[in-house]
Amino acid sequence: MGLRYAGARVISAASTWGLKHLFHRPAANFPGKVALYVDPCVIGDARAKLERGSVVVVGTNGKTTVTNLLADVLECAGMSVVCNRTGANLDSGIATSLLHAKQADWGVFESDELWLAKVLPQLKAKYVLLLNLFRDQLDRCGEIDRIQDSIVGALASSPESILVYNADDPLCAYIAEQAACAPGREKTPSIAFGVSESMGLAQNTVTDATMCQRCSTMFTYEFRQYGQLGEYTCPNCGFSRPALNFAAENVVLESDQLSFDVVRNGANLTPNAPHRAADQDACISLHAPFNGAYMVYNLLAVGVGGQLLGCSGDKIQQAIDAFNPQNGRLETFDVAGRHVLLNLAKNPTGFNQNLKIVAQDSQPKVVAFFINDKEADGRDVSWLWDIDFEELAQSGQMQVFAGGIRGKDMQVRLKYADIAADVVDSAEELLGKMKEISASHNAYLIANYTSLPLVKSALEAAAAATADAAPAEAAPVDAAASATPAAASTTAAHENPVVIAHLFPDLLNLYGDGGNVRVLEQRLRWRGIPVEVVRVQHGDTIDLSQVDLIMMGGSPDREQRLASADVVAMRDELYEYVNDNGPLLAICGSYQMLGHEWLLDGQTVKGLGLIDMTTRRPGTSADRLTNNIALSSPLATHPVVGYENHAGRTYLGEEVRPFGQVVSSVGCGNNEQTHADGVLYKNLIGTYLHGPLLAKNPEIADHLLEEALKRHTRRSGVAHEPLSPLDDTAELSANEAMASKLGV
Ligand code: GLN
Repeated sequence: MGLRYAGARVISAASTWGLKHLFHRPAANFPGKVALYVDPCVIGDARAKLERGSVVVVGTNGKTTVTNLLADVLECAGMSVVCNRTGANLDSGIATSLLHAKQADWGVFESDELWLAKVLPQLKAKYVLLLNLFRDQLDRCGEIDRIQDSIVGALASSPESILVYNADDPLCAYIAEQAACAPGREKTPSIAFGVSESMGLAQNTVTDATMCQRCSTMFTYEFRQYGQLGEYTCPNCGFSRPALNFAAENVVLESDQLSFDVVRNGANLTPNAPHRAADQDACISLHAPFNGAYMVYNLLAVGVGGQLLGCSGDKIQQAIDAFNPQNGRLETFDVAGRHVLLNLAKNPTGFNQNLKIVAQDSQPKVVAFFINDKEADGRDVSWLWDIDFEELAQSGQMQVFAGGIRGKDMQVRLKYADIAADVVDSAEELLGKMKEISASHNAYLIANYTSLPLVKSALEAAAAATADAAPAEAAPVDAAASATPAAASTTAAHENPVVIAHLFPDLLNLYGDGGNVRVLEQRLRWRGIPVEVVRVQHGDTIDLSQVDLIMMGGSPDREQRLASADVVAMRDELYEYVNDNGPLLAICGSYQMLGHEWLLDGQTVKGLGLIDMTTRRPGTSADRLTNNIALSSPLATHPVVGYENHAGRTYLGEEVRPFGQVVSSVGCGNNEQTHADGVLYKNLIGTYLHGPLLAKNPEIADHLLEEALKRHTRRSGVAHEPLSPLDDTAELSANEAMASKLGV
């Protein structure tokens, strides 16, 4: 043990003492940070404290829950554990937990996906438990491929760490395949777990990754659980869900409980755990008072991890029975006699799972969403439009509130799902308003990463006041039902509707761009104009002469290439449509495809050539342009606000007009030289702006709709009045909030 390690321990102990006694703050990260500064190998040096080794839990959703539960399981089985229980999951958080700890049997640590590459080479964990990968904080992390590469690199740096992975997630299975090829890992087993039967759940609109990463072909699914999880096969190269070493079977999902069996297939999966005679084909049964398919996966991971570490099914169940995380994950409170559930949701997949829990309560209820956009949340909130709030709108009477730094964006998103939400400035304000609502209405508070602690502490204070108070005052009965949302309507079948074509939403579905279609559709419906949305999936075709408006979204490179082939196959029809003044909105990846060529991994891909422009990439994906942005555009009197996130730089030909000029001090648009964004050609708008663009820029939405109505009249003979004005207070208020944040 070197001098540096000794120094690191002293300085971290001193900073822990200082934080606790002088600043009264928890010491989750800082002591580890200073220790790492003094001794960059402090984790490697301190791992000797862990007699049997460690497990690192990674994955987009469920890390904190699985990590805590797994640590509980070990403790139930009589073992001592070091664990970063609060979710401080960078190297500094793990170093802090290790330095605070005494000698222990096991370490169980959650790690941020991108930080695994720093942590694992030092920790040399016995197991890496990989839960899932979903799109999350894309402005910080880039596309999921980058996270996958980083995890594969981490595993390569610790060749003896056994990968235990969710094989239902093709992104995790691809990591397992790649890691198996890394030098030194030939003899290291990997262990696959999954749910072997369909849970029969309704699917959500946007799914992250349904394309084979080996050969870029769309998967076929025997069944899908949620997101990209399920039993998949690539019809081209045969990449498919690996055989499951541990399978959840007999899954029963009810509104307030779940149960399933964990069946172990095959022996000799536990090289580090004591051998048990019943290893082969052993089966344990687990149950929990939770709701939600994602909890099946979390508990399955705990069941698998627990067994691998030598714990019995009884001990695993005992830990689940006693589980009371008090960390804002499915945490419940009693506030003045009202049952309040708080849960974290920070990406579309997690959010959709949360909404299913809320929607199962068909009684009148209170629902509040708190959305921040700090560094740790991701600065971009476009993803709110990838969530199916429309499902929530159909779940009965509720009063809905939107809070957090981006509460106004949330309000706009809900508005387009036909849910009227009041903006609140704080959780305290929400709790004040809740006093006016009958305590018999359950409340569901969903908060993203940095907003969660604030909401949690407000709830804790209110719950403590409830506990202290004399018998709770009777709350008013059924106050203000005025905010009851209108029932969500479905796309109307009508003899002569305006037809909006959403091209290839299964491929071009990044950053909430599909929300543009929702905005267009609702703005027609609210004006009483019949509208039909046609979603043209990969491999389908459509007769564009029967279409009044086209929208195409952005996408990751792999999907963009496949969609590009579909779009190029429609070249003649698209030329005719655009030259006949058909309105078309193309965002980011789709916008790039309109030019002569664009770049993928250093290779040139041929575009449509509809616009005289080309897209190049000066460097690797590290120099992505990611920022909030505001433009001045001839199509709008307000600043056009959005979020850009792209690697390609687009160069317009001399005669070509941009969509707008960048007016914010940050944001780049097409390229660093011109500070212009996008393109305008006839009624085509191409732009790099996500957001989605039309949500906070209603003038642009109505411009496209005016042109769609003209085309509709031309092709069907149906006459239209000029568009009637709508109440755009919420949209313009969110626009103004962003414009002023950008100093415009
Ligand atoms: N893959 C393209 C790029 O990075 C487009 C990304 C996007 O649509 N956001 O340039």
